Amino acid sequence: MKPEIPMNQVHGDYFDTFNTITSPAPLELLQAAMDECVYYNKLLSKTVPGSDVWRINHSRGEPLEVSDHTRTILEMALEMNRASEGAFNVALGPAIALWHFTDGTAVLPDSEMIEEALKRTDCSRIVLEGNTVSVPEEVEIDLGGIAKGYICDCIADYLRAHGVKSALLNFGGNVVTVGNRPDGEPWTIGLQRPSGERGKEFWAAVKSRDSTLVTSGIYERSFQLNGITYHHILDPRTGWPVQNHILTVTAVTKSSLLADAITTALFVLGPEKGLSLAQKYEVSAVYLRDDGKVFYDPNLDIVFVK
Ligand code: ADP
Ligand code: MG
Repeated sequence: MKPEIPMNQVHGDYFDTFNTITSPAPLELLQAAMDECVYYNKLLSKTVPGSDVWRINHSRGEPLEVSDHTRTILEMALEMNRASEGAFNVALGPAIALWHFTDGTAVLPDSEMIEEALKRTDCSRIVLEGNTVSVPEEVEIDLGGIAKGYICDCIADYLRAHGVKSALLNFGGNVVTVGNRPDGEPWTIGLQRPSGERGKEFWAAVKSRDSTLVTSGIYERSFQLNGITYHHILDPRTGWPVQNHILTVTAVTKSSLLADAITTALFVLGPEKGLSLAQKYEVSAVYLRDDGKVFYDPNLDIVFVK
């Protein structure tokens, strides 16, 4: 039997999620990598005054210069909006703000207010030329559905640049692996069983080496009313939570920025359109429906748990 290689782990609370890095690399290095989140949060948070996103949302329609990081994320956001025929929309904020998914109150928003909000969510009016972005005054952006993926990529690159050969990043369900496990085998990543205990019960497992797995599920931020689950992924055409019987979808690919953007789109599109969109981007996707049926890319190396 191979001797166990001791693992270090650091934690951080950023972007409204619990983030961990696990690796045999020195703790100080892992902590320095996690501390990079402070910088990205200052740059990308909607609520930090002076962040790129805050400046965009206060630009009153005037063009402004953003960092290369923000530009890269926006480019992906706008491309995914076009590729998914609007299913992924970073300008959905005004509609999202009307829903109470996280404060524990089970109340529906007013439908007229949703209609009004939808008039301010036209992503196609955002213009990006180089690092210059123009956003109409009534439109606002929120990178909440995509920035975490990008930040995970950056932190994995930071670890690689500092000589780390093996690490596992888990940023609230966005998983990125650096190399193999220390014993040379690929990492095994469990997919959370929607009804099961968090971090303990899985419905499937995927092997991962230098890749990313990102999941969009309806079981995290949601409430129940009259037997219907209202969850945090909205159909941008209606402003209401998508009702397509999908419980969760996971995307597996190289770039976590791409994976984060595409999982939200895949959720909205459903398995049929979603699997063909995923294929175009060399993403392997797997869906779980509420009757237990699974839809997935046959190239995906996946094991299902009974
Ligand atoms: P999480 O943030 O829980 O990891 P996602 O990456 O799927 O999950 O992002 C979901 C978040 O994105 C929602 O909480 C909401 O703020 C926002 N969102 C909801 N619907 C859409 C959509 N159709 N397009 C883009 N962002 C969305
Ligand atoms: Mg996402």
